[in-house]
Amino acid sequence: MPCKEDDMSIWSDVKCPVCKSPGAKQLLWMVKCPHNGCDKYDPDLALEARSRVTASAHSVPLTGSFNPGLNAITIRYRNAAGIDKTYTGDKTTVKAANAHITICLVPTGKRCSFSRERIMNLAEITPYIPPADKLSSVDRQILGYHQSKGTTSPRHEAVKQKLGKPA
Ligand SMILES: [Zn+2]
Repeated sequence: MPCKEDDMSIWSDVKCPVCKSPGAKQLLWMVKCPHNGCDKYDPDLALEARSRVTASAHSVPLTGSFNPGLNAITIRYRNAAGIDKTYTGDKTTVKAANAHITICLVPTGKRCSFSRERIMNLAEITPYIPPADKLSSVDRQILGYHQSKGTTSPRHEAVKQKLGKPA
């Protein structure tokens, strides 16, 4: 069975000469077109073009040397399609942003964003959220206000408690 990638690499990327669709391939006089309905339509090419888009948009690249060692943490995530996936990240890189949690993932070290409500083991992740990320924008305003004035208030004390500071 011939290797498909090697096979395709000798084909040039062209606009289909028949229907003008982008994404067609040409080798000498032969043309493969991804556009269904074209004279030169090639189902394999159409499938390959689709799977390439899906792969780049939705999956984590599988190359890289990022290794968090003892800081490794597992995220069990159910995606929008209802499919459970497991990711490994570095727990020292956990950050919270509203409804999302971001973390640098193995093996690329790239920071990825996860919707909190889809993380199946959220309780195992939240302890690693830095205290400052737990503050709401109102909390931050209160903190900034009293910090600049050198004053305090019951709400200010409550915010400080969220940060883990003694009240
Ligand atoms: Zn065509």
